[in-house]
Amino acid sequence: MIADERDTIFSRMALLKGSRFFEEYYSDNPEKFENDEMLRSLPGLGSPGCPTYDHPGSVFTGGVFRMLSDLIPISVGEPHSDPVERDPARLTRWVKGAALYLGADDAGISSIRPGTYYSHRGRREEVWGEPVEESHPFAVALLSSMNPSMVHKGPLAPVMAESAMGYLRSGIAAIALAYVIREMGYQARAHTNGNYLVVAPRVAADAGLGVFGRSGLLIHRVFGPCARISVVTTDMPLLAGVPDPLADVVKSFCSVCGRCSMHCPGRAIPEGGPDEGAPVSWALDAEKCYQAWRRMGTDCGVCISTCPFTSGIDWEDLERAGIDPVAHEKILLASGGRDLPRPFDPEPPLWWR
Ligand code: SF4
Ligand code: SF4
Repeated sequence: MIADERDTIFSRMALLKGSRFFEEYYSDNPEKFENDEMLRSLPGLGSPGCPTYDHPGSVFTGGVFRMLSDLIPISVGEPHSDPVERDPARLTRWVKGAALYLGADDAGISSIRPGTYYSHRGRREEVWGEPVEESHPFAVALLSSMNPSMVHKGPLAPVMAESAMGYLRSGIAAIALAYVIREMGYQARAHTNGNYLVVAPRVAADAGLGVFGRSGLLIHRVFGPCARISVVTTDMPLLAGVPDPLADVVKSFCSVCGRCSMHCPGRAIPEGGPDEGAPVSWALDAEKCYQAWRRMGTDCGVCISTCPFTSGIDWEDLERAGIDPVAHEKILLASGGRDLPRPFDPEPPLWWR
């Protein structure tokens, strides 16, 4: 399925009231108007009117997101020379190594396929509605882990600072990687928070960096869902990775677990078993999730905090368990069980106040 970025809740919230795009969007999608107006009436995420606003720590988050926005113009550029190295195996080793050296915690490569790129752009007024015309054949996903001790403070303000830092770290690594790929003579564009032309979690899953769990988040073998993703698309000839073969095993584990659904303050994560006939096993209700964010004033993170993969699951045990629910019950029990209270820590870090 090819997604249109204009339909995402973030793009809708970025529409300026009274603008041509605002009128155009809601005349085509009148059923979204009432809900979106209600959300617009609430204080913006991380803004002083939010119930979780916490000065001066919250100001830090705003500064990091503003910096990410200021970096957008340097996400693109022209190749610096003609390509010299053309061997895909050598270039793949080089690109992955460069991504890690530039600060990513993990990196993987995927081939672009239908559904990797958005059909149209939506996040920023100046490019709103533009068809996505870039068609690079490869994408490099760069993953930056977040600090679980900060995420456990969610939905209080520090979780959003950590989220911003995850986007900043992966974003800076992606922008720098695009620079060095262009230096090698190839085209490259960095896709960072607020400036994606691609659906980043799909790129990462195709590249084998993780699999989707019940919460709709990508689960990485080391960091679980506690990570953020940026991407570089390129025409450099690379060797694509393969999706993680344990997708069905994680699906089976999530069927037994369900902690994220139980703790979700927005009731946005489905309960019960997977929907076997559907394109995704559990469809996150992104609208309900975002409504909860706006009510609380942060990007929450409770599903990340409560997930056993954030505290660490042994993937060898998981592989041995296969899709046996009894074995999964044992693994879940070893990580505290289904009813373990989530590790909430309300204290901000020492520097925060
Ligand atoms: S971020 Fe919060 S509201 Fe959204 S799905 Fe996760 S737990 Fe639910
Ligand atoms: S909390 Fe449990 S059900 Fe939810 S994604 Fe993590 S492992 Fe799956």
